[in-house]
Amino acid sequence: MDLGLKNKVALVAAAGRGLGKATALRLSREGARIAICARTEASITSAARNIMHETGGEVLPLVCDVTDKEQLQAMVGRVIDAFGGINILITNAGGPPAGVAASFTPDDYRAAVELNLMSTIELCYQVLPLMKKNKWGRIIAITSVAARQPIDHLILSNTARAGVLGFLKTLSAQVATEGITVNAVCPGYTKTERIEELAAMFAKTGQGTVEEFYRKIEADVPMKRMGTPAEFASAVAFLASEGASYITGVALPIDGGYIKALF
Ligand code: NAD
Repeated sequence: MDLGLKNKVALVAAAGRGLGKATALRLSREGARIAICARTEASITSAARNIMHETGGEVLPLVCDVTDKEQLQAMVGRVIDAFGGINILITNAGGPPAGVAASFTPDDYRAAVELNLMSTIELCYQVLPLMKKNKWGRIIAITSVAARQPIDHLILSNTARAGVLGFLKTLSAQVATEGITVNAVCPGYTKTERIEELAAMFAKTGQGTVEEFYRKIEADVPMKRMGTPAEFASAVAFLASEGASYITGVALPIDGGYIKALF
């Protein structure tokens, strides 16, 4: 199936590894021209080299902390200088620390909101004028199942990411006549480096073996397995495609059936 992504310009935030990198790789495989960012030069140049080696596509690596407004502005400027515009925006960032209400102060919520909500809002505001001018655009925010079904020990993530869904749903209707779709994707447990680190930490702190960690997670998933970054990226690539032109304002779980609610 031709996704119609050849020569489209995609900016993928926080793509040094994990879901962001897998998404950039998939979009590059579909022929898109890619800009990716991470906070360190070493991680983003290595990710770019890796993707270019796999796909032979154009990949522009940029250093940017998505919580820093000036760095975001500079990054968007560099993508425009290099590629002449941005057609597809994938917002992403790391997750805030795990914990319950008693583990945090209000400042921790402010940091989580900066990391997950404000970074999304900032990037949308910077890229929307370009999309409006072109009468075409795809905005896809990487959030979490926690945005739709709060997870007990992830109060910071639950709070900040629900805000992302509220922002995107409202925005989607306001740009719907301009050829721009705005959607969120809600990954469930997906085997990225982050999950591998959590498994290693589980084992190191004597809570059980790495296999037990994975089995615990998988027990909650109807498919009884974690997703792969490539499965996640396939769904994102479809939402970015021409074929998804009548899909907007959704928060799509990519979770093996983890979310229990009907809607
Ligand atoms: P990851 O930790 O493997 O990768 C996150 C990437 O974001 C890293 O490259 C990191 O350097 C980068 N990053 C973090 N903070 C940044 C910042 N301020 N500016 C720029 N780059 C930054 O995580 P992942 O597994 O790929 O997950 C991506 C997102 O999806 C996270 O927000 C995560 O919480 C969420 N998520 C992941 C899963 C999962 O199972 N993997 C499930 C639900 C939600």
